[in-house]
Formats: sequence, structure tokens, C-alpha cells
Amino acid sequence: MALMTGEQYIESIKKIKMRIYMFGKEYETAVGNPILQPSLNSVRMTYDLANNPRYADLMTAKSHLTGETINRFTHIHQNPDDLVKKVKMQRLCGQKTAACFQRCVGLDAINAVYSTTFEIDKKYGTDYHEKFKKYVQYCQEKDLTIDGAMTDPKGDRGLPPSKQADPDLYLRVVERRPDGIVVKGAKAHQTGICNSHEVLVMPTVAMGPDDKDYALSFAVPLDAEGLFMIVGRQSCDTRKLEGSKIDVGNRAFGGVEALTVFDNVFVPNERIFLNGETEFCSMLVERFAGYHRQSYGGCKVGVGDVLIGAAAVASEINGVPKASHIKDKLIEMIHLNETLYSCGIACSCEGVMTESGNCLIDLLLANVCKQNVTRLPYEIARLAQDIAGGLMVTAPSEADIDNPVTGPYIAKYFKGVSGVSAKDRIRIMRLIENLTLGTAAVGYLTESMHGAGSPQAQRIMISRQGDLESKKKMAKAIAHFGEDDEQ
Ligand code: SF4
Ligand code: FE
Repeated sequence: MALMTGEQYIESIKKIKMRIYMFGKEYETAVGNPILQPSLNSVRMTYDLANNPRYADLMTAKSHLTGETINRFTHIHQNPDDLVKKVKMQRLCGQKTAACFQRCVGLDAINAVYSTTFEIDKKYGTDYHEKFKKYVQYCQEKDLTIDGAMTDPKGDRGLPPSKQADPDLYLRVVERRPDGIVVKGAKAHQTGICNSHEVLVMPTVAMGPDDKDYALSFAVPLDAEGLFMIVGRQSCDTRKLEGSKIDVGNRAFGGVEALTVFDNVFVPNERIFLNGETEFCSMLVERFAGYHRQSYGGCKVGVGDVLIGAAAVASEINGVPKASHIKDKLIEMIHLNETLYSCGIACSCEGVMTESGNCLIDLLLANVCKQNVTRLPYEIARLAQDIAGGLMVTAPSEADIDNPVTGPYIAKYFKGVSGVSAKDRIRIMRLIENLTLGTAAVGYLTESMHGAGSPQAQRIMISRQGDLESKKKMAKAIAHFGEDDEQ
């Protein structure tokens, strides 16, 4: 079974007995939980779309390991065209969910670990790459959702892993056994972890010789003994408990983050892909971050499409779609959104083959892409709020719309143009609220800022990759710098 259906995905997650803590209570599964179910629904979309022949070209690929048709979210990119299709797939998924659909982190992780393990083996004669290929094949054949886990809690940011006051602030090996290792620590901000099958762990920073116990990459299933999750709160999250279809803004989809704790988790040898080779941490971090920075040029653009559409509908309901400043704001939003997309496509087209045979994005352009993502969605959101008007945050609840006393007044006073009910107007307002201030603002805005690395992380990479020296040479050549014209 190379392609799972959406229904099969939900059932498969239900079978994994997890430890999820949320609002002071413990849960065994995210399935059916009103706070967590939207997160499952978003990932489910990656399965449903892959089973729709209309989207087969984007959503599926041919495995280079088995020749079978697989979900593109488990694919090892074989050429720049695969990278372009990935970005287009992400835009599509963003358009269909208006949320973080989570599965890209695993896709980016498998591609980064794939090429890095090849290079570790080349230097040390280890067998990480062969083990990792088997792992990828297993995930492809079962069509699993893998959560890539990079971000450690990090404690004092000025100190390396081995110098922290608490040694567990970066995930580390606490015991070495003949059959594997025991690890302890945590990974923070893990979107989608409570509805994934597997977690693939990577280091979060470059490391020195003293950090050997922290230089780790491995994979475990979500029911591994000692692994548990503590779910993070989002703005307006408990609206999902109220049962209102309108007040949540996006009733079906969402993404949820969690602190993922590894409390003495055993990892068997065949699932260890980096173990002490500290000098390869930076390669793995750079490649994973690069792929995920490319990803944002797809997913955030898809969500942006929905937000631009919502702003345009709001302007129509307000009766001002022809106002020149409204038209200009919508044009600006499209311009900003397509700028992000251009960066995502550009870093894909310029992809280069790695020694392992998979294709890596252009790292400079991927970092430029993400640097723009830290800014432009905020401007798109500002313009959407500008067009929407204050009703976005002052509209009454659905319960008041349905109340026989207040309902008629809401229908009368919150109506815009004729032919559109106040209820529909409020639906659109709630969607804009959700994307710019509510639960989805985590994915659309804060994640745009900090996901795949905070802005400064991209600036460091841009300074490394920008090749200022060659630009100086170009300027000197054009200016005939240093030539003595008198002679
Ligand atoms: Fe995918 Fe975007 Fe979510 Fe990252 S933020 S997992 S790229 S949808
Ligand atoms: Fe992300």
C-alpha cells in the first residue's frame, strides 16, 4: 500500500497510543479531540489530494528506491523539477487548508538527512546512509507522516550544548548499549507532532568536539516508551471547544504545536543516522533549514491566497470593490504574495545535485525566500485587516446570531450590500480574524517569523553565501580601479 487514503491516515494515527498533555489532562490520541482534530484534518488533506487524479502530478512521485508511486511528502527529490513541484504542492495544500499542514517538516528532514548521511559515510566508512535508505523506504511504503524535530530548548543561547547548566537542554545520549542508545532531552515548537507516525530528530546547531553526545540524528515512532508531548496554547484556541461553526473562522483545519519530551527513550542501532560526528551537524542544519526555507515560498503563499481572497470578498460585501485604494491594496497583497512564490520557485529551479544523488535547493535563494517570509505576510495581514474593517474584532458570537432576541438586530445592522447576509459577512470577518489574530496566525505570522529559523539565521546564511568579494571585483573591473590613466 504505497498511498494511504485520508480515512486510513486518521485510523492509523488512532492506533498509535500516544501521551499527549493539554490543559492539565492526559490524552492517548489526538483523534476526535476538538482542539487537535483540525490539525489531523490538515494532514489528512495531504492524503486526500494525493488520491485525487486531478492533483496526481503534484501530490505523487515515483520512488527512486522502489519505482512505486508514492506521496510526494515522502519523496527524495531527484532533480530541480521535483523541487518546483514540491513548492507548487505546498501552495495547493495551503489553499485547501488555510493552515499549516505539517507534513513538509518530515519531507525536508528526510532529504537533508539523506544527503548528509552519504557524506558522513564517505568520510568515516559508517553505514548511516544505507540504514537511512531503508528507513525512507519503510516510510514511503507505509505512506507515513514524519515530523522532523530540530529545535532544542537551548537554555542559555550564549553557551554550547555541553556547557549548559542543565545538560538536558539539548537532546543527548545518556546511555550507550550494544543494541542502541538511550536519549534524553526535548524538542520545542513541534507542529503536528501529535498527529504524526514518526519523529525524525536532528541537531539544532553547529557543534564542537565537546558536544559529541549531542550530535545526534535518529527516528522513533510516536509511541516510543518515554516520549510525550505538552501541547502549546494558541490565541482563541478554546473557541474550538464551544462548538460554534462560525466563531473559529476556519472550522475544519489548523495546526498545533507541542513541546516533545524524550525522557530516556531507547533508539535501536538501525534507526541512528548520526552519532557523535559533530562536524556534520552544521551541514545537516543548513540543508534542513534550506529546504524548509524553500517550503515557506509555497505554503505561506497558499494561505496568503486565501487571505487575499477573504479581503476581496470583504470589500465586495462592504460595497467598495471598485474604490481605487481598495483595488490598489489588493494588487499590493498579490504582488507581495507572488514575490514569496517567485523566491520559492527560483531556489528550486536553481537546485543542485548532491553527491548522494538527491537535489538540494540553492541555499542563498532559499534563505532570501525565508527572509522575505519573515516580513511580507505581516504586510499582507495588515492590508487584509485594513480592508476588513473593525467588524473583524467586534462582531458578535454565533450564539447571538442564533438568539431570537439579538439575531434580527445583528441581521439588520451588520448587513452590507444587499444579497449577502450578515451571517456570511461575519463568516468572512472571522476567517480574516483567524488568519491574522487567531489560531491560524501562529502558522501564518509567527511561524513565518521564527519557523525554519528566525530572521537573523537567514541573514547569517545570506552573508556566507552572498559572495561579496566577487561583487567587489566586478565593481573594480568596471571602474578600472587601480589603473593609472596618466601612463
Ligand atoms: Fe509545511 Fe509550511 Fe507548516 Fe512548514 S509551516 S510544515 S512548510 S505548511
Ligand atoms: Fe514550519
